Amino acid sequence: MDVQATEKRGVAVSRKVGPIILLGSPGAGKGTQAKRIAERFAIPQVSSGDILRENVARGTELGRKAKEIMARGELVPDDLVNVMVGERLREEDCGRGFILDGFPRTPVQAAWLDRFLEGKFFENQEACGPPIVIQIDVDYNKLVERLTGRRSCPTCGRIYNIHTQPPRVDELCDCDGSPLVMRNDDRREVLAERLKAYELQTRPLVEYYRKLGRLVDVNGDLEPDEVTAQIAAAIQSFGGHVKDSTWT
Ligand code: AMP
Repeated sequence: MDVQATEKRGVAVSRKVGPIILLGSPGAGKGTQAKRIAERFAIPQVSSGDILRENVARGTELGRKAKEIMARGELVPDDLVNVMVGERLREEDCGRGFILDGFPRTPVQAAWLDRFLEGKFFENQEACGPPIVIQIDVDYNKLVERLTGRRSCPTCGRIYNIHTQPPRVDELCDCDGSPLVMRNDDRREVLAERLKAYELQTRPLVEYYRKLGRLVDVNGDLEPDEVTAQIAAAIQSFGGHVKDSTWT
């Protein structure tokens, strides 16, 4: 990474940011916020949903196994997802820390991640340690509006919402003009299943991390800039963002 260039752009560069987890229902804004935090702290966004979609698009063995499950709005089995995320976190760019978006999503995944971050099978000491967990909470009706209105650019990945953040020209990306796409699993029929999976399998993780003293609640009904500011402040309060002159 070009640290000087990063500092010139005003991005906070610290020796260590550590693991950050974004928890929140589908539509809570995890993807949007994860991208902003990744940029601000110069760490990668690790989105299990994005990696799975890439595998589906490339037709890998994992993609073939996950495709139908994702189309139904159900969760992909823990062992497949854990291996996939573990491979990604061992990559060099995760060295100072990373922001997990969409993982962990079940108690089994959270227990696996705990052991991973304790360094049992993760040699990268810089990025090890207890995670900072941010829960983004959003009103149910807003979630449905966001998900049914969500569109993304298949070329650059930018996310829009036809109700609240429309592109300048209908259905075309502002950055590169590509026709925007709607995710298959954002259709109303599948949505109900995804929201149910969140309540049953992921919601219990909120209390799990709260008990460990690692959880910060953020109100996701606020404007996106305000949500980003609150998340950044939470990361700083856990010491994940100290501009460090010893950086080499
Ligand atoms: P997302 O983009 O995070 O909403 O994920 C889209 C879909 O990918 C989910 O509805 C699941 O089918 C699958 N998925 C993503 N992350 C996980 C995970 N951590 N565990 C199991 N399935 C996942």
